[in-house]
Amino acid sequence: MKITKITPIVTMPIDGLPWLFVQIDTDEGISGIGECTDYYSNGHLVRGINALEPVILGMEAGQIENIWQTIFHRFDDLNGRGYVSHLISAIDIALWDIKGKSLGVPIYELLGGPVRDRVPLYTHVQDFNSGAGGPDTVAKAAKMTKDAGYEAIKTDPFPTLCLTHKSGFECLTDKKKNAGVKTTVMHCSNSYEFSGPSEVERLTPRSIRESVEWMDAIRSAVGSDFELMVDAHARFDVASAISAGKALERFDLTWLEEPIHVENHNALRQVRENVNIPLCVGERHFTRWDYIEILNKRLVDYIMPDVAWCGGISELRRIAAQAEVQYIRISPHDALGPVSIAAGFQVCMTTPNLYRQECLHTWFDTFEQIITPMFNVKNGSILPNGLPGLGMELKMDYVEKYRVHPDTQTYLNINANSVQDATGTWLR
Ligand SMILES: [Mg+2]
Repeated sequence: MKITKITPIVTMPIDGLPWLFVQIDTDEGISGIGECTDYYSNGHLVRGINALEPVILGMEAGQIENIWQTIFHRFDDLNGRGYVSHLISAIDIALWDIKGKSLGVPIYELLGGPVRDRVPLYTHVQDFNSGAGGPDTVAKAAKMTKDAGYEAIKTDPFPTLCLTHKSGFECLTDKKKNAGVKTTVMHCSNSYEFSGPSEVERLTPRSIRESVEWMDAIRSAVGSDFELMVDAHARFDVASAISAGKALERFDLTWLEEPIHVENHNALRQVRENVNIPLCVGERHFTRWDYIEILNKRLVDYIMPDVAWCGGISELRRIAAQAEVQYIRISPHDALGPVSIAAGFQVCMTTPNLYRQECLHTWFDTFEQIITPMFNVKNGSILPNGLPGLGMELKMDYVEKYRVHPDTQTYLNINANSVQDATGTWLR
């Protein structure tokens, strides 16, 4: 069964969230779907996928490892960790989908079979900088999420410089807005954008006090046994991360995620030695070679590789085994489209050292529109449906409806003359 075509597709059914899917076709009529969405970088990734086509066209679709290694080494001048591992991820996921379909089994059956009957999730309430209200609002959201059956939630409680610095700095989005420039804000609120010299953020005493108030509201709403995680999104300098971490110790967090920028392991060690909260990193680390150092140096207590970025299903499985050796649990990162969560689910079903899989449950209504069948979500877990491959298909008419240009996020099939009928079906 040979690869005959590779097609990247960018679609944006939720405003500001363009998802990059990759379809691989074969000469036996079986197709697979992968994903490597990286919101700001989709254009580069689409061009990278297109550049890969002549490398793997005609190769045996079943030779997943051969293809993984071929791409990784062909582009090693770029460093296989990051851009290249994103490209590999999409291809790898699609090839596993094809293999599962061709053998008539879910992918997890090919990875050794299930070690659990469901995959527990954790989800999100809004971040401080989302602009969606203050502590009272987030407390209500946390209570509602708990009542919906979820047992763990994450939030970023830290105000960004754009909110706290009243003089000297103006966030890029505000600058554009003030200049009358229409901006497409992707995956961030108006106030959650920082650039240039403010990329390494500092937390002021006021910011830390506000983050404590944010967490106080959530903890009071959900009670002491509910699991809470805090995400710092790799934003801070070491001193800020340590001050904030110390201030949040009393909330009994499951983890503090990416407290500082991720390139410097010594800096992470300094945070670790000064903050009494378990740490987690991973969404900005790629392939087993990034993880081996973090794990061997025992810098964190959890890791969260993203299956669509770290090297796909093949690599997530290997990274999970590396963590298992160190008695560390994995919790696959997910803030992408539904193919990514489907791929992560397949690995989680077979992973003994799983904590939970990340999701944004507020996106599930849209997932229900774009995939079939929808994930079987019950009491904060996804249950397997037993279908071959990834266990889901994209609804291509819906994907096409919201298709966008990968660089500009301009809708290609929706325009001023487009109308929907009474059922919501798009009429050109
Ligand atoms: Mg994160």
